[in-house]
Amino acid sequence: MSTLLKHFKPNTFDCSQFMHNILATIAKAIVLQIKDKITRKISSQKMETHASDVPQYWRIDRQINAETAHLLVKFVEDITSSKFTENWANAVKTELANTIMQLAHFVTLNSSSSSNLIEPSVADAVSRTAQSLKTSQFWLSVASLALISDPKWLEFAPLWRTLKARRSQEPDPLCENHDDGQTLAHFRCEVCLTNLCRECFTILHLNKTKK
Ligand SMILES: [Zn+2]
Ligand SMILES: [Zn+2]
Repeated sequence: MSTLLKHFKPNTFDCSQFMHNILATIAKAIVLQIKDKITRKISSQKMETHASDVPQYWRIDRQINAETAHLLVKFVEDITSSKFTENWANAVKTELANTIMQLAHFVTLNSSSSSNLIEPSVADAVSRTAQSLKTSQFWLSVASLALISDPKWLEFAPLWRTLKARRSQEPDPLCENHDDGQTLAHFRCEVCLTNLCRECFTILHLNKTKK
């Protein structure tokens, strides 16, 4: 595969489909540890048991071993570290960034319009997150997250740049629990629907037994 890359330029090649196939293969090997907030049970989840819209050509019935997945991860790392050409590195970083941003789109944005940021309700946020596990897109995004080694790569995604530009026009969110008009929030809890600083986030989300 490496010799092939030297003979192709990313612009003469469907880079999106190329990365899609690599990510799909890596996604098959991913095991997520998911914690149920209510029962507090941790379970291992795989794409094959969750996603219901996996295209047939992904051959979900065929397992992929960890060794093959690692070879693919190494291959992507070689491309992004400019081992081939800078064009290839940038094309692949763009694909990874776009795939991650599709997940953000799925969870927080109104699917009918990318320019409308819709604040989801608690039930909506929870159900959308649970719903997203059932999509192959979610698993592709997780595979991309595993491959991105610098948050700066997100700059390659147009959606990231749009959201960032919008964010920079808004004042920095403050911690709603401190409520002192100056402590900055570091997190937004989609369940409590509050912006919180690191300290308040930890304290307000402790187990009942530890409070
Ligand atoms: Zn606070
Ligand atoms: Zn919360």
